[in-house]
Amino acid sequence: MDFQLTEEQKMIKEMTKKFADDVVTPQMEELDRTGEYAYDIIGQMADLGMMGIAYPEEYGGSGGDWVGMMVGVEEISRGDVTLGGLLDIVTIVNEELHVFGTEEQKQKWLPALVQGKELGAFGLTEPGAGSDAGATKTTAVLDGDEWVINGTKQFISLMDYDNASIVIITARTRTEGKDLINTFIVPKGTPGFVLGKKYDKMAWHHFPTNELIFEDCRIPKSNFLGREGGGFAQHLTVLQTGRIFIGAISVGVAQACLEVSLKYAKERIQFGKPIYSFQGTSFKLADMAMNIELARNMYLKAAWLKDNNMPHTLEASYAKLFGSEMCEKVASDAYQIHGGYGFMNEYAVSRYYKGCKILQIVEGTSEVQRMVICRNLK
Ligand SMILES: Cc1cc2nc3c(=O)[nH]c(=O)nc-3n(C[C@H](O)[C@H](O)[C@H](O)COP(=O)(O)OP(=O)(O)OC[C@H]3O[C@@H](n4cnc5c(N)ncnc54)[C@H](O)[C@@H]3O)c2cc1C
Repeated sequence: MDFQLTEEQKMIKEMTKKFADDVVTPQMEELDRTGEYAYDIIGQMADLGMMGIAYPEEYGGSGGDWVGMMVGVEEISRGDVTLGGLLDIVTIVNEELHVFGTEEQKQKWLPALVQGKELGAFGLTEPGAGSDAGATKTTAVLDGDEWVINGTKQFISLMDYDNASIVIITARTRTEGKDLINTFIVPKGTPGFVLGKKYDKMAWHHFPTNELIFEDCRIPKSNFLGREGGGFAQHLTVLQTGRIFIGAISVGVAQACLEVSLKYAKERIQFGKPIYSFQGTSFKLADMAMNIELARNMYLKAAWLKDNNMPHTLEASYAKLFGSEMCEKVASDAYQIHGGYGFMNEYAVSRYYKGCKILQIVEGTSEVQRMVICRNLK
């Protein structure tokens, strides 16, 4: 087995590490406090090619691989968890278009999305359909050459950004008496599609999450995405990629926690010594480093399997479940090492702590991952 990164993957790692250290980290405390959208940083991330690493050049990507993509996601998430979240969502939208879209749909939507000029959103969750995502109540009815969509999606990210261009949603259709879930591309600005309330969240303040409302929203017949009746399965397929992302994001946030904790533990003097010299502190740091490395190997393996067109349902869920739970524990230990200062907003560790719990919820909760894992055990 070869655990070395290729030259291209190393280059992505160095580039994104520098970007996180020089551009992202210095601005994030303020953006998180004000809730101002990070348009400039997102634009720079797009210029670095981060939205298109794993996509072919013909659609505006750089023809790289998923290991390279995830290595970059880890580094950027070390600077800010929400940027990792953004890369996750735009990529699963790109992935659904790339894997299931017609050539015409790919030519129409993918280049601007893959180059990060536009951002896509992923509309699966509804008030009554969270973990039970198949309980979707949104409907799509064919009327001549148009689909008419009615329903409400909740907790949908990114659509409030000025350059968000489409949302890919699931909706129920009834064809020849059959009740099916299908997928549709709804462009922003389509009459009958409005952004509902913007959620006031405990963290991720500069990352928009909204309710989406569809009232007699008409889209062309050609905006049907994928196979009839395959809409739900398509969403689940791309969520596997999303789970590898959450694994990589979790490692990035946990690594940031370790770095600030190691520095703090060497500087903070109590009982006449740096707290690093107390075994109670140093053992925490050792456990953090070991668990981060384990989670890193898990997301890299899942990405490698995807690159090699091998099944990776289990590995993606392992990476997501272990990574997100590891991250919460590491953030909690990092906070503990900072003592009372960990509670202060000016210390980055407070932002890491508040921002990591949600990684156990999105792209399928920890309980859902355990269900997926059990179902796939042989
Ligand atoms: C900040 C943020 C951004 C988001 N962005 C998006 C987005 O862009 N697009 C999108 O579609 N969704 C998005 N979501 C929604 C997210 O994917 C859901 O919140 C998640 O899937 C869980 O659904 P729920 O919140 O309805 O919880 P529920 O499904 O109601 O779950 C509540 C609890 O019950 C548990 N539970 C449920 N069923 C079972 C079971 N069978 N066995 C054991 N335990 C169970 C869950 O694990 C959880 O602990 C976002 C959410 C947040 C908070």
